Amino acid sequence: MHTLPLQPPRFAGLPATFYSSVSPEPLNAPHWVAVNTGLLAEFALPDAHFQDNADNLACLSGSAAHYDPQPLATVYSGHQFGVYVPRLGDGRALLLGDMADRHGQLWEVQLKGAGKTPYSRFADGRAVLRSSIREYLCSEAMHGLGIPTTRALTLAGSADKVYREEVETAAVVTRLAPSFIRFGHFEYLFYKGRSDELKQLADFVIRHHYPECAAAGQPYLALLTQIAARTADTVAAWQSVGFCHGVLNTDNMSVLGLTLDYGPFGFLDAYDRRHVCNHSDREGRYAYQAQPYIAHWNLAALAQCFEDLVSEEDLNRFADSFPEVFQTAYLHKMRQKLGLQTEAAEDAELVADLFAALQGQNVDFTQFFRRLSQVSNAHDDPMPSELSALFAQGSPQPFSLWLGRYRRRLRMENSDAAERARRMNRINPMYVLRNHLAEQAIALAKTGDFREIERLRRCLADPYQERAEFADFAEPAPEWAAGICISCSS
Ligand code: AMP
Ligand code: MG
Ligand code: MG
Repeated sequence: MHTLPLQPPRFAGLPATFYSSVSPEPLNAPHWVAVNTGLLAEFALPDAHFQDNADNLACLSGSAAHYDPQPLATVYSGHQFGVYVPRLGDGRALLLGDMADRHGQLWEVQLKGAGKTPYSRFADGRAVLRSSIREYLCSEAMHGLGIPTTRALTLAGSADKVYREEVETAAVVTRLAPSFIRFGHFEYLFYKGRSDELKQLADFVIRHHYPECAAAGQPYLALLTQIAARTADTVAAWQSVGFCHGVLNTDNMSVLGLTLDYGPFGFLDAYDRRHVCNHSDREGRYAYQAQPYIAHWNLAALAQCFEDLVSEEDLNRFADSFPEVFQTAYLHKMRQKLGLQTEAAEDAELVADLFAALQGQNVDFTQFFRRLSQVSNAHDDPMPSELSALFAQGSPQPFSLWLGRYRRRLRMENSDAAERARRMNRINPMYVLRNHLAEQAIALAKTGDFREIERLRRCLADPYQERAEFADFAEPAPEWAAGICISCSS
């Protein structure tokens, strides 16, 4: 018997039409690829015994003979690239149960890649090792950055073949979230006209995740407002670290504002506002600069589902309010990145003009902000050489002009350079999960060497602390990285 302290999931208390009971399809001869000891500790699970326990491996690779509670897969729908698809659902994820952490908070425990469900459509229910490593590492990297995200507890592999563009091998990620409920769960009920059940789902989300909304004059409007606020914070955080999700369909939007469903995501190497990380996204619908607008679009799609619960006037006002909610969250983040401690009317323009000055300069996004902390206040000091080194042809005039304005802004609030540098280095990461780093760890893992996955996880768990042992992870992308192609196929 496995040793995870699983409880029957709260989700099973919803009407039986919301989900199906499922059994995982076993992997042949599964093995651990990664066990997240840091997260095990959050659940007071002893890591020494955890790895060695064959029942844990069997359970978390989908290979146990018996599961109690019985796993379930949930039904949802969603807008994929703007087009409504009436039935999606957990096609390769299944909910094992809920599990309490050390603080008593309940988390849903899902296996991703453990075989077909009634919602698999024409696909195989599997996930490949490559994309599972990416999900495992990026969810932990986002957590290290302080960005709301689903978490990854373990990663199991097998030699079982999976057919994508080429033959790959299967893997199962154990992922955790307080809830995996998506905008698409509401859309499914709305477009089916099942308004009673939709209200039950809204009540469930309020009861378990937004209890403060229950006391509001209009609980359902309060719920939407809270979801929008969390979405704004999360997307603002993405923009601030150069994270591109890649597939911001409404079925990949968490009602808790978590970063959810790691597929063809990517962090910006060189800053480019038009960057599209998903090679299947030909039109750039989900480009870096589009993410805030897409979040707004997706929230409007969610709001539509609430037409029986919130007045039309309130829904319209809600939908119109997002740009301002987002801008406030975004400016807050950007002021922190720039080391500003006060608010000035010119800040929005200062931020916009910085990115205009960086566009087309091939400047590494992450290292730029890290090194910006070395700037002094005085107008005529030279630019720190580490900063100007990021610009291919020395720093161009638009950026030099911008730097003059930035320094004036710093002097305006009597900013202390040394203290500011310390503060900025706690906000601007030294390390992010660059595509080529994930790629290197994947290539090694395919040879059976999983050490680089663990080394990356340890580094990214604390991305603000510069450490000599991880110097290679801080380097801007090498030229070969530009050729890495990430598609939806996972
Ligand atoms: P995604 O684009 O990854 O968010 O997936 C969209 C839908 O396809 C979701 O309902 C997934 O569960 C389902 N899906 C994706 N890949 C697979 C797969 N290999 N097997 C079964 N269902 C899948
Ligand atoms: Mg998805
Ligand atoms: Mg996916």
